[in-house]
Amino acid sequence: MAEHNLAIIGGDGIGPEVIDEGKKVLDYLAANTPGLTFNYTEFPWGSAYYRETGRMMPEDGLDQVSANEAILFGAVGDPDIPDHITLQGLLLPMRRAYDQGVCVRPAYLHPGVTSPLAGKSAGGIDLVIFRENTEGEYAPVGGRLYPGTPHETVMQTNVFTRRGTERIIRAAFEYCVRRNRRMKVTSVTKSNAQAFGMVFWDEVFQVVAADYPQVETESLLVDRVAMDLVRWPEDFDVMVASNLFADIISDIAAVVTGSMGLAPSANINPEREYPSMFEPVHGAAFDITGKGIANPLATISAVAMMLDHLGEAESSRKVDAAVVRSLQERKVMTPDLGGTATTSQVGDEVVRLLWEG
Ligand code: ATP
Ligand code: MG
Repeated sequence: MAEHNLAIIGGDGIGPEVIDEGKKVLDYLAANTPGLTFNYTEFPWGSAYYRETGRMMPEDGLDQVSANEAILFGAVGDPDIPDHITLQGLLLPMRRAYDQGVCVRPAYLHPGVTSPLAGKSAGGIDLVIFRENTEGEYAPVGGRLYPGTPHETVMQTNVFTRRGTERIIRAAFEYCVRRNRRMKVTSVTKSNAQAFGMVFWDEVFQVVAADYPQVETESLLVDRVAMDLVRWPEDFDVMVASNLFADIISDIAAVVTGSMGLAPSANINPEREYPSMFEPVHGAAFDITGKGIANPLATISAVAMMLDHLGEAESSRKVDAAVVRSLQERKVMTPDLGGTATTSQVGDEVVRLLWEG
């Protein structure tokens, strides 16, 4: 129980709308838990800020945020601004500068939620994806030769360091062992086609796996995993993959567990030298921006992951339990889950369930 300094970045699209509900939950906890305090600093950065200033965040933005213990982040993206400006101007620099090499994305089929896959029942899909978060296919390394000519040649280089690769794979095994999972770790690569980075990844996976003889392991190709996540998602427990592959499979996992609006994500700096960042998996979702119908539960689940990271295990458990009950009861749900409630009403309902205990 303590005082925590948090940076709040709502960002673009539905980001600020869902972040408001995350703050509502934090405010309730602070008001009702003796000794627990959250000090927020809000940073109004993102595409609107870019339109005014030509930057997604100020030049010293990373310094401004770095003193906080954690960051609660909404979403970033804009229909009229290219992703290489929005994403590369705000989200990716934070992941890299704060060395948030470990991204954790749980996907769970909650009771009360219908999977688009026939015959899947609550709890049947229960997996956690570990995404390498600072290098791999997202490394800002590459170049363009002879632009505009018939010989134009563009290189996009994947970067796999031993430190980064070992760190994400070890995090997956540690989580598997400590959280009493079903004791299986699946590594996802494309080693038959990418003979350098992915083969190296496989080697590191073997080395780390040897430290966890109690854990069953498998290495699968990403195309096979894309199929299996739809055919037999219940077979997966903990999964670990590179930056790009894990991004893609975590969207599949989010959708087969009912809605993009439910999936949370944690970007962790395991050494705790810098703030870790917590966010929904979904993006800015312009199709529903401003309508007040975005599902805030992904963000509220991200708040639960943040509380766990901050050492507030009891509060974290309570928030998770309130989310589960709100889904089970199906009384207050946004349209993505078949309901008619607003974003704010879902936040209120989670707070009401927290109060009920
Ligand atoms: P990005 O490019 O950053 O991934 P996006 O605009 O593609 O963002 P996503 O957030 O990935 O949009 O979401 C895809 C679709 O899922 C959206 O168009 C939206 O309809 C739906 N969706 C996403 N998040 C939510 C949410 N919180 N509540 C309800 N529906 C959502
Ligand atoms: Mg998307």
